Amino acid sequence: MMTQDDSPLSLSVLDIFKVGVGPSSSHTMGPMNAAHRFALDLLERGLLTQTGKVAVQLYGSLALTGRGHCTDRAVQLGLEGFDPATLDPLAMEPVLARIRETRELHLLGQQVVPFDEALDLLFHRDQVLPHHANGMRFSAFDAAGALLCREEFYSTGGGFIVRASEFGRSGAESAPVVLTHAFTNGASLLERCRATGLDLHELVLANETAFRPVTETRSRLLQLWSVMQACAERGFNAQGLLPGVLKVRRRAPKLHRMLSEAANPGPMEAMDWVNAWALAVNEENAAGGRVVTAPTNGAAGIIPAVLMYYRRFESGSSEEGVLRFLLAAGAIGMLYKRNASLSGAEMGCQGEVGVACSMAAAGLVAALNGTNEQLENAAEIGMEHNLGLTCDPIAGLVQIPCIERNAMGAVKAINAARLAMHGDGTHKVSLDMVITTMRQTGEDMKSSYKETSQGGLAVNVPEC
Ligand code: SF4
Repeated sequence: MMTQDDSPLSLSVLDIFKVGVGPSSSHTMGPMNAAHRFALDLLERGLLTQTGKVAVQLYGSLALTGRGHCTDRAVQLGLEGFDPATLDPLAMEPVLARIRETRELHLLGQQVVPFDEALDLLFHRDQVLPHHANGMRFSAFDAAGALLCREEFYSTGGGFIVRASEFGRSGAESAPVVLTHAFTNGASLLERCRATGLDLHELVLANETAFRPVTETRSRLLQLWSVMQACAERGFNAQGLLPGVLKVRRRAPKLHRMLSEAANPGPMEAMDWVNAWALAVNEENAAGGRVVTAPTNGAAGIIPAVLMYYRRFESGSSEEGVLRFLLAAGAIGMLYKRNASLSGAEMGCQGEVGVACSMAAAGLVAALNGTNEQLENAAEIGMEHNLGLTCDPIAGLVQIPCIERNAMGAVKAINAARLAMHGDGTHKVSLDMVITTMRQTGEDMKSSYKETSQGGLAVNVPEC
């Protein structure tokens, strides 16, 4: 199911990190992007004004956990023309209430069509489309009921989508660009660094010039850092229960208050803060708030928590260090995206929390001015000890085990970076070996442990 070819990467760090809304990049942002894309297809093909009805069908993991992951809401918002990158989370509820009340969708805000959610948005829990566990089919009909257009999309993790007709084709999920320093895996990335004498983050920044000027890359990365900080801050100030049947109480606000008021914080202060930051971001994600997908929403708390740890607890930390962190972490995310997958529905949680841990470990080494070899070692350690991690969200909500798992992933990432920084970068298991192992483990994993809520905690813990 994963794309495997010899073509070099043509991804940007801004494909790996993007602003979105919770709770899921694969089940919320991807479907919203696909629905929006389908509505734009209708417009571009001159079919929008002829459209009298639309129907949406969800398959596989999207059908099994889509309600808990808000896939139904995302699809409707996407058809209305909303984009996760710019959508104000507070604007969602009034739009959805209007759709429910009027039983009408405003396609791209222009074409009003009847829409009965119970009949026009179907969850096929027992069917999977051929290429990927996260499949969607969109159909448009004219007023007489004749089919105008039908498209299938897949949500492949991290907010990426691909049309069925382009699945497996190189560059189907990103713009085809030629990077200055082409690489396909960890070994070729390190080799390019050696050949050019560049630090890994410098090489990635040079590659980004294929997409935009350096100054714009820097400012957009710092903007993402601001969104991460704002997200944690909102998480600290929010109160009460998270949405959904589990009635999970937010823990970050109380922990934040305790840490802020502690007269003698004790030797584990840094770890407590890392936990607080990770919980805050993922509670916001679970509540449908604005997050930075890093590289997924379910794992969105790990990189912010490790970055905040760096800024608060590492002497000499700086904004330049934040940039080094994000560039290096982004490159590691690209390797997983190309050579395995970022999708919990394909890889289990190794593809989400495991990848974010690996990226954060590498990012922290870059921020601390470690060597390229130490960075690669940290990324490898970050994944090696997440191999086999399953995805079994209770009630299909991105809450248990997801929120706490981000705190664990962030702490593990810091330890991976420390282990690597105490060595000279030489080690037995390469990053490429562990990425291959993760992919094979994900392929071997039973589907009940891959974002279907049909195994693990999801079947052993009562929903309420
Ligand atoms: S268990 Fe992991 S992969 Fe599954 S929804 Fe939660 S964070 Fe995502």
